[in-house]
Order: sequence, then C-alpha cells, then structure tokens
Amino acid sequence: MALRNIVVEGDPVLRKVCRPVDKVDDRIRMILDDMIDTMHEAMGVGLAAPQIGMMRRMFVAEPEEGEIFCFVNPEIISVEGEQECIEGCLSVPGYQGRVIRPEKIHIKGLDYNGEEQEYIFEGWYANVMCHEFDHLEGVLYIDKADNIQKLED
Ligand SMILES: [Zn+2]
Repeated sequence: MALRNIVVEGDPVLRKVCRPVDKVDDRIRMILDDMIDTMHEAMGVGLAAPQIGMMRRMFVAEPEEGEIFCFVNPEIISVEGEQECIEGCLSVPGYQGRVIRPEKIHIKGLDYNGEEQEYIFEGWYANVMCHEFDHLEGVLYIDKADNIQKLED
C-alpha cells in the first residue's frame, strides 16, 4: 500500500486530456491499488488518475462503502435525464457546488483485471462516475457548477 499526493486545483495536470491505458498490467493494478488507498485515506468517493499526477484514462470510485469500481479507458455511451448534484472534489478542498448531471448513464470500460465491464448507473452512482470521468478530460466540477460555497471548517 502506498498513498499518493493529491494534486490540487491550479496544477496544470488537472487540465489535460488523459491518454488511454495500453494494457491493464501489474503496474496499472499497483497504481489502482494506490488510488484506492489514497481515496480511502482522503475519505473520498472517487479519485481519477490525474489527481495523483498520472495522465492516464482511469479512475476508482466507491459510491457506497465497500462497493469499489475501477474503470480503465471508460466511455460514456449514452446519458439520460438530468439531476441536480451537490459536489465536492479532493482536488478542490473546502468547497462544494451545484452541478447538473445526467440522471442515468451507460458506461463501459475495462476493470481491474483488464476485462470489459459495462454498467447502467443512476442517481448518486451516475453523479460520481460523471465527476470522475470529467477529470480524464481535464474538466473540474467547478467549471460546471453554480453556487460554489466555501465549507465551514
Ligand atoms: Zn474530483
């Protein structure tokens, strides 16, 4: 287990479009493990590779405790509806804001073992996945949010 430093807003790595992962091998799995550990340590519900300074298309997410998803080279195939989400981000500590996201998404990609996976997510799960996916495009929730507020300590 190794914790990685989480990059914060202002660092240009958060603004780049990430490149695909060539192959899900032991090195990629080690990074995914580190990302999961780092997400847990920071008490987040998701973490994308650029947030630890890796410009690769992958993220981890844990929308409900104990339910961990690893997505490598994810693609959002379709979206449906709208929902209003209150979001924060480990790379923008101390703030939250309101974002309109799809209510439902169809997403596919590779899993931790390099196998194809495909899900339909709704509600909170769709919210988390869309937020993490945006990181791979260099997009932060604050770009889309209105009503950004500083959290009380
Ligand atoms: Zn984020």
